[in-house]
Amino acid sequence: MEITVAKTAGFCFGVKRALELVQSSLESDASPICSLGPLIHNPAVVAELESKGLKVVSDIKDVKEGRVVIRSHGAGPSIYDYASEQGLELIDATCPFVKNVHELALMLKKEGYQVIIVGENDHAEVIGVLETLSGEALVVNDPRQLDSAYIEYKVGIISQTTQDIATFQQVVSEVLPKTKECRIFNTICLATTQRQQETARLSQEVDLMIVVGGKNSANTKRLAEISAQHGTRTYQVESPDELSPEWFKGVRKVGVTAGASTPDQHITAVIQQIQALGGTGCG
Ligand code: SF4
Repeated sequence: MEITVAKTAGFCFGVKRALELVQSSLESDASPICSLGPLIHNPAVVAELESKGLKVVSDIKDVKEGRVVIRSHGAGPSIYDYASEQGLELIDATCPFVKNVHELALMLKKEGYQVIIVGENDHAEVIGVLETLSGEALVVNDPRQLDSAYIEYKVGIISQTTQDIATFQQVVSEVLPKTKECRIFNTICLATTQRQQETARLSQEVDLMIVVGGKNSANTKRLAEISAQHGTRTYQVESPDELSPEWFKGVRKVGVTAGASTPDQHITAVIQQIQALGGTGCG
């Protein structure tokens, strides 16, 4: 059984940056750091950071003093306002690509465009962008949601940075005939695009795909969906013990990829387990 590992598998720039910021802050000062939600969508990494002093909270109002980190997903204005009023020390790990989405959203709104965000309305990044727009945007992650939606004369379309390009294109195609002026910003980040393209390519060359990464990671789930959409049997795992020997029966080629929040050591551990189950090579 031949194993091929995607070159783009694993940490993206934004996640690496957020982790480095928090790790160096924890090392330079022993006081705890609160994170609004898990710093990255990988439970094992978060557990390790918690052992070093990171505290995950779901509501910033639970933080009355000390340091608070804004994740790579970014946050809406109310979080910045609260931190400033409360005198909290802010560690802003918002990915610059996410900041760009906020800026474009605001610019479109100021210029009178109805903003359409292609993304998931319960994802932290989208929640933050929506708040920047005071809730005045339409969020869709399926073009069918546009069937009953009111589309204005001037529309601006942006995307959650980890959205898949096919859905983005479908939404654009649905909106165009319904409006007169449309500005389109493809804000899917390069790291996402490269991972998705490589996953699509690799999944067509193998009999089985293993996608490594947190079950709560949107970008990892998306890679598994893209692989499955190409008709390839696909499993998403967080750790090697989830791999079932049954999956590999009769498989000649297996592809491995990983989400942008999956550390290298998790990918390596999964590859080693596949090798133990009869896999060879690791190209
Ligand atoms: S997936 Fe893209 S936007 Fe999100 S943190 Fe990584 S580089 Fe930034």
